[in-house]
Amino acid sequence: MMDFSFTEEQDLFRKALREWCEKNLSLEKVREMDTKGTIPQELVREMAKLGLLIMTAPEEHGGTGADWVTACIAAEELGYADISIAVPVLWLVESSWGYVVDKYCSEQVREDVIRKAIKGDAFIGIGSTESSGGSDVAGFKSTARKEADKWVLNGEKMYLSGTEESKKWGGGFFVNARTSPAPPGAPHRGMTGFYLPMDSPGVEINKRFDDMGRMAISTGGFVMKDVKLPESYLIGEVDKGFYLTMEGFDTARILIGAVCLGAAKRALELGIEYIKERKAFGQPIGKFEGIHFELADDWAELEALRSLVYRTAWMMDKRYQEKRFTPLEVAQMISACKLKTPHFAFDVFKHVMLWFGAYGYTKECPIEMGLRGIMSYCVGAEGTTNIQRVVIARELLGKEYIAYK
Ligand SMILES: Cc1cc2nc3c(=O)[nH]c(=O)nc-3n(C[C@H](O)[C@H](O)[C@H](O)COP(=O)(O)OP(=O)(O)OC[C@H]3O[C@@H](n4cnc5c(N)ncnc54)[C@H](O)[C@@H]3O)c2cc1C
Repeated sequence: MMDFSFTEEQDLFRKALREWCEKNLSLEKVREMDTKGTIPQELVREMAKLGLLIMTAPEEHGGTGADWVTACIAAEELGYADISIAVPVLWLVESSWGYVVDKYCSEQVREDVIRKAIKGDAFIGIGSTESSGGSDVAGFKSTARKEADKWVLNGEKMYLSGTEESKKWGGGFFVNARTSPAPPGAPHRGMTGFYLPMDSPGVEINKRFDDMGRMAISTGGFVMKDVKLPESYLIGEVDKGFYLTMEGFDTARILIGAVCLGAAKRALELGIEYIKERKAFGQPIGKFEGIHFELADDWAELEALRSLVYRTAWMMDKRYQEKRFTPLEVAQMISACKLKTPHFAFDVFKHVMLWFGAYGYTKECPIEMGLRGIMSYCVGAEGTTNIQRVVIARELLGKEYIAYK
């Protein structure tokens, strides 16, 4: 027997979050943050009071122990409210990478960053990408060597969400560094995960990008010059960082799926309101079939993708709670979500912008914020579209059909 309904608790959670967003994350507020280029830390602390931050962390670590279906509800509602995607990005980077760090870290790291980030008093992000490339996760150049009782890190990370926030609020990044040479044919081996506090001596933010969208959260880079970290800042096991990184990407990508669908739903609703009012040739443009067909197609795809995203989140819960699916089975589904949802949401924003006519192209209309923000997920934040195809094809064909190693 299949049951597609949310639990009563999940429905109540969605309702409460929608009400909170209506008060605290209106489109006017989102426009203000987009223009000023910053998210007030007070807003993040308010989100903390709702139990939203790193909500899947267990209660004994300060989280709410939420399941991934509930986390997707939060993601969908935050995307629905902040169509510029800035607050959802901040929230989901912390939710996914904070979850993985919490799962594999020492009690020291939990005290130093996780518990603080859960209260909105620090930021935790992911520092995987380097200037030499992001898709080839194992192709990075940063290194870590053991000297007496310290790990010494050198390298440069680039295109990272939240660099300025981590400086202003405190906190840091989960980073990968090479600790052993990779054996032939296995470039993913020999990398290790660390927690890197941004106030460590030797860390310098050397870049802030002027992005196209999601203006309220920063994207930047930093260098690590002989940064000394204690053994307690090691995340997981030495030389096994690749697996943690993949788990982080999986958790981030499913949340991105739900964020994109929330934003697309809001765009469609704004569009529906407008086409009922706006008149051309003596009648509302909502009476024209050319518009009906686009609207109906977008709605049908939205519902299809919502089923995909929530089914995948359900599979994640089964994997974590009951080991019912393998990590690779779930990863394939997650990649399907990340492959499809950003481009679908981008198309919806484009359609709705066209319905709005010239007004849609102005900053008086909220739609352009969505178009710019969603594009970050089409381009590649948390993995490009082609990399999702690589993951899916690998599962369909078998590892021996990967063209490179
Ligand atoms: C707004 C934004 C925020 C980001 N935030 C973070 C962050 O917080 N932390 C972080 O670590 N990174 C972050 N990134 C970086 C992101 O993870 C990388 O952009 C992504 O992994 C791609 O790396 P790249 O940009 O170097 O592109 P490349 O790896 O150089 O890829 C360029 C193009 O080649 C294609 N390509 C590469 N390999 C293959 C292949 N095998 N088959 C087919 N096509 C292929 C890609 O799909 C892409 O279209 C962010 C990126 C953006 C845009």
